[in-house]
Amino acid sequence: MALAIDLKEAFLHLFFPQVCPGCHSDLVSQEQLICWECMQSLPFTGFEAIRDNPVEKLFWGRSLVQHASSMLYFIPDTPLQHIIHHIKYKNNPALATYMGSIMGTKLKLLHSMKKIDLMIPMPLHPKKEYERSYNQASLLCEGIHEVVDIPWRNDVLIRQFHTSTQTRKSRIERWENVSDVFALCETSVIEDKHVLLVDDVITTGASMDACAAMLLTKKAASVSICSLAYTI
Ligand SMILES: [Zn+2]
Repeated sequence: MALAIDLKEAFLHLFFPQVCPGCHSDLVSQEQLICWECMQSLPFTGFEAIRDNPVEKLFWGRSLVQHASSMLYFIPDTPLQHIIHHIKYKNNPALATYMGSIMGTKLKLLHSMKKIDLMIPMPLHPKKEYERSYNQASLLCEGIHEVVDIPWRNDVLIRQFHTSTQTRKSRIERWENVSDVFALCETSVIEDKHVLLVDDVITTGASMDACAAMLLTKKAASVSICSLAYTI
């Protein structure tokens, strides 16, 4: 079945290079990387303008996060799931940057964004980044940067080893396990800075919490968090 889908996609790409990743329909010339119908279907959360939103609540009692939000609800079997699948597994870096630019348009409206000094993408393990040829969180930063002109660095925060067994652990074990996964290469870059951590999907928030805690320990002035999507 998967082979049949791949063959269908290869065929479509051959004759219709511009195919919407959300629904596989042909894009018309006025549309960018996603068709109009899929754009209309994107489930925006509006969290960026809501204090104490569900993403912020994930971090209550943990890291002192200034502001946290996700742009979209991650709902299975929707165009958004296909879009994220394309970003992560179908070698579509332009789509990641494009989604980042949409995040930028939402974040630009916020007064709090003016206080962000630096964006840092959540790092992939180097092996995974090599296989994928890019880190989608870096490309989201690139897209946000195109709109809000805030600098970003993808060489400051690194991931040290795989956490592939995470799914078999309990929620508490996961929170404990991730704390020693990340390392900071250059502490002076974040000192006294308000850092925005950026990722594709937030589920438990454990990884971002571990990074936020470390950044604050290493003298970041404050940390905010945003992601493309939030798993309900
Ligand atoms: Zn579509």
